[in-house]
Amino acid sequence: MRITVDTDRCVGAGQCVLSAPDVFDQDDDGLVTLVGADSGDFTDEDAVRKAGDLCPAQAIAVHEG
Ligand code: SF4
Repeated sequence: MRITVDTDRCVGAGQCVLSAPDVFDQDDDGLVTLVGADSGDFTDEDAVRKAGDLCPAQAIAVHEG
């Protein structure tokens, strides 16, 4: 699994951080950043998918495989 985020779309709603705080964070402007996502090895892939589903701005793309 791989994740990309589009900070141009992000509206800072923070749903992703609530769903998967080990993967997503927000910068000083409230925009999404990825935490420790370089490895592509996520302990809770369902939480990552849920974060992508819940994002109101469709700013999170989850690439399976
Ligand atoms: S849920 Fe979407 S809009 Fe909200 S902070 Fe995360 S990426 Fe940005």
